[in-house]
Amino acid sequence: MGLTGSPEPDAVLGRRRDLADQLGFDLERALMTVQEHGANVVTFHRDRPEGGQCVLSTDGLATDVPGQAIMTYHADCFPLLFVDSGRGVVAGAHAGWRGTLAGVTGSTVGALGKAYGTRPDELRVLIGPGICVRCYPVGEDIGAQFAARFGDEDRYLQRGDGQVRLDLEAAIRLQLEQAGVPADQTSSCGSCTREDARWFSHRGGRPGRFLSVIVAPGR
Ligand SMILES: [Zn+2]
Repeated sequence: MGLTGSPEPDAVLGRRRDLADQLGFDLERALMTVQEHGANVVTFHRDRPEGGQCVLSTDGLATDVPGQAIMTYHADCFPLLFVDSGRGVVAGAHAGWRGTLAGVTGSTVGALGKAYGTRPDELRVLIGPGICVRCYPVGEDIGAQFAARFGDEDRYLQRGDGQVRLDLEAAIRLQLEQAGVPADQTSSCGSCTREDARWFSHRGGRPGRFLSVIVAPGR
């Protein structure tokens, strides 16, 4: 589903159109990210709707425009999907280690509060497929940066065989809790992109990107 580096861009666009038709959203009005592994979040609003655009330098998007879709692209980095059903607000974010360390999870929760008045305890969050802790050795320096910023390192760092492994999903869950989202309102699909060959995986040597989409309710 990713265009960057694709040898067949027309085929990619055709697959996106097929997906939009199957799910029933308007691809022309969809919002997409040009992701940079950061913590920037951009919000869109029904009283001044805009659509059909790629937003530069952002890893989180939110909208309350009825029927508007948000699309993010992934290959080991986690898709995060947020819903405030009471206000008809949805958000999508892209969270690898850099974005998670930069705080994209918490900044999305914060942006929803600022833009729409969403309280963290009104959110439901789905963590999509991403790389699991077994498959994700990282440098000691990266582990140390997480510990310094978020604390509670036993929840997301595993040490053994002279290696540090990062449990990115656990770090994301911790950050959601720190942002005030109740733990029982977060769920995950529990699928590892490196081990499960259905997914594209940077570390697994399956180049390409899968797409995550969330659509604001209504038309
Ligand atoms: Zn794995």
